[in-house]
Amino acid sequence: MREAGKIVAETLELLEKTIKPGVTTAKLDKVAEQCIRKHGADPAFLGYNNFPASICASINNEVVHGIPSLRRLNEGDIISIDVGVYRKGYCGDAAATFAVGKVSPEAQKLIDVTRASLDKGIEKMQSGNRLSDISYAVQAHAERNSMSVVRNYVGHGIGEQMHEEPQVPNFGSPGRGPLLQPGIVLAIEPMVNAGSWEVEVLADQWTVVTSDGSLSAHFEHTVALGANGPEVLTSSSLS
Ligand code: MG
Repeated sequence: MREAGKIVAETLELLEKTIKPGVTTAKLDKVAEQCIRKHGADPAFLGYNNFPASICASINNEVVHGIPSLRRLNEGDIISIDVGVYRKGYCGDAAATFAVGKVSPEAQKLIDVTRASLDKGIEKMQSGNRLSDISYAVQAHAERNSMSVVRNYVGHGIGEQMHEEPQVPNFGSPGRGPLLQPGIVLAIEPMVNAGSWEVEVLADQWTVVTSDGSLSAHFEHTVALGANGPEVLTSSSLS
């Protein structure tokens, strides 16, 4: 899983360098797939429930599961990219939201708060804590900053499959759910909206958007709990 996680991180780093005004999300998808395969891994999203691409690319009010297309990025957009790979039978999964050129202070704050809410969640992944301690930490940080966490989509256990038990919500009271013990690996992935938490799915049956049209950001890491605390398997220079 460390190998899978490293490939995910390198792919996101390469995408960060590729993102600029005028680039299409289809181009980003191609760059990502080549990077994943070059490292001897397979894209986990391609063909998953018939998803047609190797990454999810979600722009501005799109929350998650955006399908790469010929749409070009504009200066001031924010784009969330989700990458998953299989390497030797094990999965890695991570996401990050990037600014396209110069973005508004509001957009930058959303990005910063969402990344920090992921960090707050990861800090709670400690032996003896309960699963919902992670959820509560994520939600509290977002709401402290007057933003909302998406309810309809959640993080997940990860291992030989991309989505395993347990679900990891980004909201809820602390002290509930399974006891966290060394060996557990979770994909923690706050989706944070600048407006209300409600979302809907577009007619393409994939793209999730905010119901009120507000901006949304998404950060995700695959995190293993070891004897000495959490180890982020998808860490990079990004977060
Ligand atoms: Mg995930």
